[in-house]
Amino acid sequence: MIRLAIQKSGRLSEDSLNLIRECGISFVSSTYKLKTEATNFPLEILFLRDDDIPGYVQDGVADLGIVGQNVLVEAGFPDLEVETLGFSKCRLSLAVLRNEAYSSVADLQGKNIATSYPQILGRYLAGQGVQAHLHTISGSVEIAPSIGLAEAICDIVSSGSTLLGNGLREVETVFRSEAVLIAHQALSAEKQDLLAQLRFRMQAVRRARR
Ligand code: ATP
Ligand code: ZN
Repeated sequence: MIRLAIQKSGRLSEDSLNLIRECGISFVSSTYKLKTEATNFPLEILFLRDDDIPGYVQDGVADLGIVGQNVLVEAGFPDLEVETLGFSKCRLSLAVLRNEAYSSVADLQGKNIATSYPQILGRYLAGQGVQAHLHTISGSVEIAPSIGLAEAICDIVSSGSTLLGNGLREVETVFRSEAVLIAHQALSAEKQDLLAQLRFRMQAVRRARR
């Protein structure tokens, strides 16, 4: 039996469940249950918050997980990735108030930036030779500039409408992300074999979708 952690409810959930089903794996899921067992494959599915998935897989509490690269890299475990999955594509971008003058990332030198991704943003800014004050907040990052908490933000963007609605303008792409399959680094031989079977089926599903 191999144990896979997926997001309980959110932007990854439906596509994660669909992928497992398209792999020919049947299971019953209820909104109340935090785990379920497949009926035709030795798989147990755990339903968790996405932020908890990288740590659980790193520790081996779960053998496998499906999570966004943004959350995986921010958690500090990029090496757990074994397969890109092609859904939940988004980007982490820097944005400033619409009327703010901005010509390059150097303009952020010494500024306050609100983000939920201090690790990824910190590495990006260091690479650009920019020093800024990062303020880590876990949600509603987009309102920070309009309430005077920061001059800029770094957050997930897919369409840009949330930015527009908060009077913000996207100025730099910091990181591109999609959903990935991750695996614990010391799986038993039996679990490695189950992982190989799952990856084979996932690759076939992706080829069939193209
Ligand atoms: P949880 O309650 O599990 O912590 P959350 O609120 O942190 O959920 P979601 O908003 O459901 O997370 O997003 C989960 C993941 O989906 C993100 O980490 C990102 O990888 C991806 N994602 C986020 N926003 C979008 C979007 N607009 N379009 C596509 N993918 C997105
Ligand atoms: Zn989350």
